[in-house]
Amino acid sequence: MAKRDYYDILEVSKNASEEEIKKAYRKMAIKYHPDKNPGDKASEEKFKEAAEAYEVLSNAEKKQRYDQYGHAGVGGASGGGYGGGGMNMDDIFSQFGDIFGGGGGGFGDFFGNSGRGGRTRTAVGSNIRIKLKLSFADIKNGVEKKIKYKKLVLAKGTTYKECTACKGRGQVNRVTQTFLGQMQTVSTCPSCQGSGKMIANRAPGSNENGLVHEEIETTIKIPAGVQEGMQLSLSGKGNAAPGGGVDGDLLILIEEEPHPELERQDNHVIYNLVIGIADAILGVQVEVPTIEGKAKITIEPGTQSGKVLRLRGKGFPEINGYQTGDQLIKVHIWIPKKINSEETEMLKKLQNSENFSSKNAKKDKGFFDKMKDWF
Ligand SMILES: [Zn+2]
Repeated sequence: MAKRDYYDILEVSKNASEEEIKKAYRKMAIKYHPDKNPGDKASEEKFKEAAEAYEVLSNAEKKQRYDQYGHAGVGGASGGGYGGGGMNMDDIFSQFGDIFGGGGGGFGDFFGNSGRGGRTRTAVGSNIRIKLKLSFADIKNGVEKKIKYKKLVLAKGTTYKECTACKGRGQVNRVTQTFLGQMQTVSTCPSCQGSGKMIANRAPGSNENGLVHEEIETTIKIPAGVQEGMQLSLSGKGNAAPGGGVDGDLLILIEEEPHPELERQDNHVIYNLVIGIADAILGVQVEVPTIEGKAKITIEPGTQSGKVLRLRGKGFPEINGYQTGDQLIKVHIWIPKKINSEETEMLKKLQNSENFSSKNAKKDKGFFDKMKDWF
C-alpha cells in the first residue's frame, strides 16, 4: 500500500506553520488514540500514521527532505525508522511530552489517563552482591567458578492481578491548582511502584511480594587479568522483581587472595630474591617461584644488590588488551651479622685487597647511574 501524503494525513496545507502542524497532530492523536478506540485496528493505524507524519513535519530538516523528495527522502532503504511499520507506540508516547507536556485543561482529562500515564514501568529486581576470592593463577589464566548464592524468585502459588489503585497503568494522576489553572501531574503508582500489578494470591512462606529465597548454583566465567576491587556484572542473575518484571543483576566483587611469596604491581609480579654475598660475586643458579610453578634463573657474577631481573610474560594479562605483564625479580644481597673465626680471617684478608676495598667501590662511578636503569 502506498504511503499517504503527510500533509493529507494531518489535514494541513503545504504552507502550514509549525504551530498549525502541531495543533493538527494533537487533534488527530486525540481522535485516534488507542484508549479511546479500544480494539479498533483502523484507528490504531491512523494514530500511528499521524505520529509518523508529525515526526517528519515537525523536524525542519526532515520536512525539507520530504518536501523535496517525498517519502523516499525520509524513509527508503536506509530505514531511518520510517520504512515498513513506521513508529512504535513507545516512540509515539514519548513524543507526547513535547506536544502535551504541561498543558493543563483540555488535554489533561484525556491524556493524563492515557497518553504517557498509560505506560507501565518495568519493575526491576534488586541486585545481589557477592565477593569472590581468586588466586594469582586464577587471575593469570581466567577461570570458571562454581558459585552458590541466594536470590529472590517468584514463589510457587503466588499469582498477580491488575493493580486496583492505578488499574494496571502503573501511574496515577493528580490534579493540582496553579495560577495557570488546573494542572495534571502523573506520578508512579505508590501501591504497585509502577509495575501495574498487585498480588492476587501470596504463596505461604513468601515475602510481601510473593517471593522466596532460593539457593542458586551457577558457573561463572572470570576473564583473565581482573584486579582486586573490580566488579563484574551478570545481568538477570539478581533478585526477581515484585509484580513480575526483569530480574536484577548479580554483581561479583573481585578479591585477590594474597600469594605467600609474590606481590602484584599493576600487571607485573614482584619477587624479592635474597642471595648470599659470595653468590652475588661468583654468580649462581637459583629457583624462583612464579605464578605457575618455579623458574630457574641465573645470577651473573658481580650482581649488585638492588638489581632487577625480568621474566617476560610471567605477569598478568591486561584484561582488555594483548599485553602481558612480567615478573620482576629484585635482588637483595644478604650480609651476615654473625660469622665464625675462620670466616673472619678470610674477610680480613679481603678487606684491604685490591678489589674488595671500599676505596675501590667509590671508584665505580657508573654504579649509581646504572642503578637508576634497574627500576
Ligand atoms: Zn498501581
